[in-house]
Amino acid sequence: MKSAPAPAHTAYLLLGSNLGERVVTLHRALVALAECAGKIKTVSAVYETAAWGNEGQPAFLNQAVQLGTDLNPQELLRACQQVENDFGRERLEPWGPRTLDVDILFYDDLVLDSEQLTIPHPRLQERMFALVPLADIATTYVHPRLQRSVADLLADCPDKLPVEQWMGDL
Ligand code: AMP
Repeated sequence: MKSAPAPAHTAYLLLGSNLGERVVTLHRALVALAECAGKIKTVSAVYETAAWGNEGQPAFLNQAVQLGTDLNPQELLRACQQVENDFGRERLEPWGPRTLDVDILFYDDLVLDSEQLTIPHPRLQERMFALVPLADIATTYVHPRLQRSVADLLADCPDKLPVEQWMGDL
């Protein structure tokens, strides 16, 4: 029996949730992404961070994911947005609470600036809540625009919000 060919591309995504059963949402989002976007290859630990840019709201759980995919970047964005919508995310304010947020951090070593999509994610290097989980699964990966590894970006990140490994149960 022939095995299926390996997915053509590797993408790194960041999942975030700060409303409802946050860790259940992250887990279900992985299942949904595996159904519509590709193969989940590696996941980081789950981390908890105070909400960034709007301190009055509940803390976020974040998790980074390495995904093997045959989708192109625009198709992947649509798949991520579909999964977000399936979890009932409301987009009432830019940094407001959300049941589920899915961002594309890297897609192979692509550098892309279009109206809907910037890859690598433009604020990745400013956010510890993205770099800490990403460093779990991609520490030596070189940011294709900045030409610096994830470990380097983490060491120099100006963001001071503490990011702690989340030890709760499913
Ligand atoms: P947000 O509310 O932070 O999830 O931002 C969503 C918007 O950012 C969407 O309209 C996307 O088109 C846009 N966007 C630009 N670059 C990215 C990216 N790398 N990953 C996810 N969304 C992106």
